[in-house]
Amino acid sequence: MRKKIAAGNWKMHLSLTEAQKLVSEIVNMYQDEYRGKAEVIFGVPFPYLHPIHHLIKDKNNIHLSAQNMHQATSGAYTGETSAPMLLDTGASHVILGHSERRQYFGEDEALLAAKTDQALAHELTVIFCIGESLEERESGHMLAVVKKQLSGGCFHLSAENFSKLIIAYEPVWAIGTGKTASPAQAQEVHAYIRQLIAERYDAQIAAGCSILYGGSVKPENAQELFSQKDIDGGLVGGASLKSRDFVDIIKAL
Ligand code: PEP
Repeated sequence: MRKKIAAGNWKMHLSLTEAQKLVSEIVNMYQDEYRGKAEVIFGVPFPYLHPIHHLIKDKNNIHLSAQNMHQATSGAYTGETSAPMLLDTGASHVILGHSERRQYFGEDEALLAAKTDQALAHELTVIFCIGESLEERESGHMLAVVKKQLSGGCFHLSAENFSKLIIAYEPVWAIGTGKTASPAQAQEVHAYIRQLIAERYDAQIAAGCSILYGGSVKPENAQELFSQKDIDGGLVGGASLKSRDFVDIIKAL
């Protein structure tokens, strides 16, 4: 079902004490100031999943996400974390295919398709990230890249399973750079993603899919981005580490 969503991606930041303070502040401000129905998701480092779950477990519309996951259920994979382990911490979501995982850890479409299958098999909601580099945009390959990432990672899914995904469009050149895609640039790609989904599945599934924008979302640009027809919210890095900024982004929904 299509929803308004503000998802934070903390990456590898914060101490546990800082993380707990941040979540407590956000939850208090959200409850005091926000009357809408948008969902909030905290994408936190593995060691913080369980302690952060403790702070949000009885809160409506607030969820917990991991930032990665292994594709096997269990096994001799030193240092890895499985879907059942994520569920045990209280996580309900997992971010897959973030450009930093693709770039620094060599995650490709085949691996991401396997991880997506595994997450869905364990009833985790996947936030599946796609997006082009600056070079790909400037050379005119932007739409082809998005199509390849979406078809390679997700279009093998049944319609029922695809409907459980959240898609995040994150142009790599806008992540952590302070350069935001203009609302028109973001809308163009979001509309294209929705069209691809309609072609692969059907118009109803495309209309029901939540597609988030990510890339230097801040309180100052959130409202204009979120007012675009095909943008259903944000995947937010830097600004999700500041309680006031993240709550203002939620309120922009
Ligand atoms: C991200 O990490 O997914 C992201 C969009 O980061 P930032 O908001 O800092 O650009």
